[in-house]
Amino acid sequence: MTKIDAITLPYPAAKNFVGGTFLPVSGRTLDVITPLNGAVLSIVPLSTAADLDLAVEAAKKAFPAWSATPIKERVQIFYRYKTLLEKHLPELARLVHEENGKTIEEAIAEVEKSIELTEFACSLPQLVSGELLEVSKGVECRVERKPLGVVASIAPFNFPNMVPNWTIPNAIALGNCMILKPSEQVPLSAIRISELLKEAGLPDGVFNVINGDREIVEAICDHPDIEAVSFVGSTKVAKIVYRRATGNLKRCVALGGAKNHLIVLPDAHPEMTASNITASMSGCAGQRCMAASAMVAVGPIDLIIDKICEEAKNIIPGKNLGSVISKAAKERIERYIDEAEKAGAKVLVDGRNWTVEGNENGFYVGPTVIDFVTPDMAIAKEEVFGPVLAIIRAKDIDEALDIENASNYGNAASVFTQSGGMARKVMENAGAGMIGVNVGVPVPREPFSFGGWNESKFGVNDITGKSSIEFWTKLKKTTVKWNPESKTNWMS
Ligand code: NAD
Repeated sequence: MTKIDAITLPYPAAKNFVGGTFLPVSGRTLDVITPLNGAVLSIVPLSTAADLDLAVEAAKKAFPAWSATPIKERVQIFYRYKTLLEKHLPELARLVHEENGKTIEEAIAEVEKSIELTEFACSLPQLVSGELLEVSKGVECRVERKPLGVVASIAPFNFPNMVPNWTIPNAIALGNCMILKPSEQVPLSAIRISELLKEAGLPDGVFNVINGDREIVEAICDHPDIEAVSFVGSTKVAKIVYRRATGNLKRCVALGGAKNHLIVLPDAHPEMTASNITASMSGCAGQRCMAASAMVAVGPIDLIIDKICEEAKNIIPGKNLGSVISKAAKERIERYIDEAEKAGAKVLVDGRNWTVEGNENGFYVGPTVIDFVTPDMAIAKEEVFGPVLAIIRAKDIDEALDIENASNYGNAASVFTQSGGMARKVMENAGAGMIGVNVGVPVPREPFSFGGWNESKFGVNDITGKSSIEFWTKLKKTTVKWNPESKTNWMS
């Protein structure tokens, strides 16, 4: 695609946003393709380390004034930003739908979550008021939270609006200046985020966007003036980013991929369980790090499996199921299904080879339910990231928990049962950071934080909620004595 062609595309180029201005596109570019029908929507620049330098300089310039602004004033921007997200919700959701391929309803839910995240940031003044104690007569110790400086946030393709908003409101309200690196597959939502933050009154340079691929991520990890890096994406890249950023002595939290187990016990409520599991595995075409991916069926629960298949057959690509992100993703997902079938698993509902009439060039996979998957199969162990449910049979709850705990990942796990005792056992023993009881997508809502265990997250803090306050700030401890009559002691 040439720059001239780009003029006629549905969306303007995804320009870098630096110091409050969109910069002209130069250098290498990539086409932005809508997975709904394979059409080119726009182009995105693949920036270089020199482009990043410009953004870091702008952020450094903005930092002294922004960090010195009282937090109660800083959050006023986010009250306005929240109102703007609400006002523009239909348009923002449409953009997510077009660049990512999820359904409009899912895209609306995504932007609604961004609104909730912003609402939490507005409450930060109530949560970071510091501590003060008179430690000896006339001597006070106080602890305050200070921003880190210039920070970076690197995002994946699956939530173009929400994942950036996991980090932007909190990090910036806490006094940092940020550089966002969106996924090069879905860079368009970040343009509107930049515009709305500016409209909300955010000073120039406090928020910047640098587009690109691996090269720019590596430059972020290496940049001496970036203090902290948050990353959300696959485990493979999370490991690279965590090692490189911390190797350069930066603070880093890197969220990776997932393989979430849903343990279903024979006493589970059939209708509720079937509809929750089907929605969890197929929502956002299975491209959620919280998606149900492996169902561990304990004992005789064929009735529930039948109901899941019935529900899955009513989920139709192009109607109530969106596309997957790319041709490569569709091929990868179908390969997992092929290999499981060859290895002896039974495909109960088959989503392979779907095309949607009128959108033949889109990337669609139908909901797929596969029974008699064994724990050693790739589909049982690896992240498929498509609308595919692998059912693994277990004789009892202990075997089910062993299967769950054997996973390298540890984002989420759920149990479906009407027994409090069994639920408690899974809550205690599942090896995941986020647990659901009769909930298919156990995303904690604000103020609770989001983050998994094991290879689903590297770093100490979670990325949202109260835990993120620790990540985006450092503590200043001050000891004060004003009374000259106080005697000299060991701390004088
Ligand atoms: P990805 O790892 O391919 O890309 C994420 C980011 O890293 C992008 O901005 C991309 O440009 C960059 N990148 C890609 N390859 C790189 C490399 N070799 N070196 C440096 N940077 C590189 O992930 P994706 O495909 O965009 O997103 C899907 C993945 O994200 C899934 O694994 C999903 O589970 C995960 N995810 C996890 C969470 C979570 O909370 N744990 C949330 C959303 C998505």
